[in-house]
Amino acid sequence: MTTEYFLPKAALQSLIDCLHGDGFTVVGPTVEQSAIIYDEIESVDALPRGWTDRQEAAKYRLERRDDDSLFGFVVGPHSWKKYLFPPLTTLSSAQQSESGWQMQTPEADARKLAFLGVRACELAAIGIQDRVFTGGPYVDPVYNARRKNAFIIAVNCTQSASTCFCRSMNTGPRCSSGFDLALTELPDGFVIEVGSDAGTELLGRLATESVTAEQLEAAEQARQQAIDQQTKQLNTDSIRDLLLGNLDHPRWAEVGAICLGCTNCTMVCPTCFCSSVEDVADLSGENVERQRHWDSCFNLSFSYMSHGTARNTIAHRYRQWLTHKLASWHDQFDSSGCVGCGRCITWCPVGIDLTEEVATIRGNEAFCDLGTENEE
Ligand code: SF4
Ligand code: SF4
Repeated sequence: MTTEYFLPKAALQSLIDCLHGDGFTVVGPTVEQSAIIYDEIESVDALPRGWTDRQEAAKYRLERRDDDSLFGFVVGPHSWKKYLFPPLTTLSSAQQSESGWQMQTPEADARKLAFLGVRACELAAIGIQDRVFTGGPYVDPVYNARRKNAFIIAVNCTQSASTCFCRSMNTGPRCSSGFDLALTELPDGFVIEVGSDAGTELLGRLATESVTAEQLEAAEQARQQAIDQQTKQLNTDSIRDLLLGNLDHPRWAEVGAICLGCTNCTMVCPTCFCSSVEDVADLSGENVERQRHWDSCFNLSFSYMSHGTARNTIAHRYRQWLTHKLASWHDQFDSSGCVGCGRCITWCPVGIDLTEEVATIRGNEAFCDLGTENEE
């Protein structure tokens, strides 16, 4: 018995309306400042109809398609982590009064979020962040409150960018789990798969049609196109031991010489989760907030401890990022920290490509001294 249905394109608005009626804030892709980003949307008119993205190392451009596809692009600079793990969170606050300091802990924002257009690699990234924020003895209340209310409408990719390598990471491009509904876009509508009881319930309120064999075949061909277009890959064979066994490889110094330490790669990465906590006072000194904000292992201050900075060259910091992401992440979370979305390649201003770094180290496992000079 098939679990797939067909939703005509004209009925997509009713899906958004149902979610709004159920109290969800709907977040989806939209065009802003020449990029496809994620933002709150009210209607299908906000979707990037007829747009596609062209991506290479250090290059991202929007181009017009020759059709009216709503999801005919790959992934942009945003990821869903900005909604589940917000860039800035007030953890607590204190106000000075005549009777002393009054402490407050804000209620966790438990808004019901519906994500429209989540790609396979992004489902995998959410799964990774689930383990990071909720899979251990300490459950992050901010992430948990948003995550448990989230409704996920995935969209299967029908094209790949030159920067995508989800296929070699076994995270895509086909959405296989972790969604409530999954859509494959065809010219006149969507083939829909159901992934949860909540998805079944919502679909029951939409004007779906029985899916035809031709529509299933067309959806399969569209998904196959994304597979066929994907040329980049990361060889993950024994990658943990490869990287941790080559901590003094000369490639770290070479990439450190061109890396700007700008943190772009970590900001756009859907799995990076580093943060710092600061107490911020207003000018009167009577109101103080304890704020958590995204941070990056590329920042010099991130490894500052009582004795000074632990990773004092950019080469050290790049090595820390890549070895954590692809090697010690396995020890910590029993998976890779990379889902192959390619964002860190596209948005690196100097075009550093982690797949090339790994291939270089794999091809030449010589050793050298990385150096310990404090360059800053
Ligand atoms: S490391 Fe790069 S390719 Fe991997 S998940 Fe992060 S941004 Fe995507
Ligand atoms: S690898 Fe690229 S994006 Fe990341 S910090 Fe270095 S220059 Fe910036």
